Amino acid sequence: MMPHYWDGDDDRDFGRLGDDDDDGVATMPQAAPHFCTVPGCAQLTTRSRCPAHAALAEHLRQNYALRRWYRTPRWEALRALVLREAGYTCALCGQVFLALEVDHIVRHEGNPATFWDRANLQALCRRCHQRKTQRGE
Ligand SMILES: [Zn+2]
Ligand SMILES: [Zn+2]
Repeated sequence: MMPHYWDGDDDRDFGRLGDDDDDGVATMPQAAPHFCTVPGCAQLTTRSRCPAHAALAEHLRQNYALRRWYRTPRWEALRALVLREAGYTCALCGQVFLALEVDHIVRHEGNPATFWDRANLQALCRRCHQRKTQRGE
């Protein structure tokens, strides 16, 4: 390994440290390989991080587990149950909709007990759900 590889004009890469865009989509397909932006990492990459560090950063993102929960058959079943029991009626405005969204009454903040609690779920229409979300609830 060249001893001075981190010297020189690497500021461009340091400036991208906050870049969250490691979603596997190459935004700059023509970019020349450069060192991973994680300090001390000597892997060459065409993105901001090498594949290993990109995967690590993805796991550290706060909502990583959550986004997985929403994709499970368990959530699909729970969601269908809530909608069925609600009779496709929005819990806030009382109107009947075919396409309702399932809302956590109390924010789960990544807590599995709160996330999976049937009693903490209600069916909301898109409009009511967005309003509630915008209020930060
Ligand atoms: Zn790396
Ligand atoms: Zn509503």
